[in-house]
Amino acid sequence: MSTLQEKLVARITQDGPLGIDAYMRACLLDPDFGYYATRPSIGAEGDFITAPEISQMFGELMGLALAQSWMDQGAPSAFLLAELGPGRGTLMADILRATRHVPGFHAAMRILLIEASPRLREIQRATLEGFDLAWREDLAGLPGIPLFLVANEFLDALPIRQFRRAEGDLWEERRVDRGLQGLTPCYGEPAPLPALDYRLGDTRQGDIIEIGEAAQDWARAIGAHVARHGGAALLVDYGGWRSLGDTLQALRHKAPADPFEAPGQADLTAHVDFAEIARAALPASATRLETQGVFLERLGITARAQALAKGLSGAALDAHIAAHRRLTHPEEMGTLFKILALTPPGQRPPPGLEPGIRF
Ligand code: SAH
Repeated sequence: MSTLQEKLVARITQDGPLGIDAYMRACLLDPDFGYYATRPSIGAEGDFITAPEISQMFGELMGLALAQSWMDQGAPSAFLLAELGPGRGTLMADILRATRHVPGFHAAMRILLIEASPRLREIQRATLEGFDLAWREDLAGLPGIPLFLVANEFLDALPIRQFRRAEGDLWEERRVDRGLQGLTPCYGEPAPLPALDYRLGDTRQGDIIEIGEAAQDWARAIGAHVARHGGAALLVDYGGWRSLGDTLQALRHKAPADPFEAPGQADLTAHVDFAEIARAALPASATRLETQGVFLERLGITARAQALAKGLSGAALDAHIAAHRRLTHPEEMGTLFKILALTPPGQRPPPGLEPGIRF
């Protein structure tokens, strides 16, 4: 078979339509045709550019927020400094540079990178040369020391399932079927789904909701560890509080595309439902969901931008000013992207964030 589409058509012919989750997993992670396995994907040559790739200021401020949290928790002498889905390693590199003068931080940290793509692991190894690095696929069996973790545009890459509200308390799962040409979305038979009962009150017939079981699993693992052993997690992504509507999105050659066309050749993402994340992370506390723009402003991005601007002129200065705007402005990434932190119950939130609601 020479394309992922052929492979998926064969699979559907044998097993029936795929859930959106199985489809996303294949498109992103198939070892032969998956998007992350085959493309440069992130950065200037890729299909999308992420906050750490836009400016070093993003990672620097995230690093200083984590270091402050580490100090608030008594500067533990051994802790895990972890990142989920480090991409090109840029965010971690900026965190490490910004925290290098925080007394004791580097001596206490053990860096842990969670990365599924062997190709990206190689890029991360090169970016982070000179540091002791360990890669893992998940958070099972971590040592019982505090976990300080960041994830930027990781949760949005995880598979979701979609359900459309049918009559009464019934739901139809959105799936991917073979069409006349290639693949096409369809709906399964209406069925009651007790796990979705909590959404019966705020949805109407025809509404689509999304469930990120994989994102919930990561939140559960982080929450359990942080509540028991200490630490903090800064989770940045686009999304909101409670999902509503179809947010499955494909980006191919930097432009929006049909998610069911050319599987494996486009980046597929979905908005993150941070309410699900906060709920799954219990007994850890979740902060209030904050916008990226407000968070970065509170941490002093404008002062940092002015300091960096002093050494720049011409095109480099213009690019720097544009990057500041892009990260914080409401019409750019400032409000679309959100940040949620998870901390041990009752712990003071990381700087720039406020305590959240209790469930
Ligand atoms: N955080 C980076 C990259 C975001 S792209 C940045 O901000 O630039 C998403 C990253 O998550 C990629 O590194 C991808 O390979 C990784 N990834 C996606 N699904 C994963 C999974 N299930 N397990 C581990 N890593 C995953």
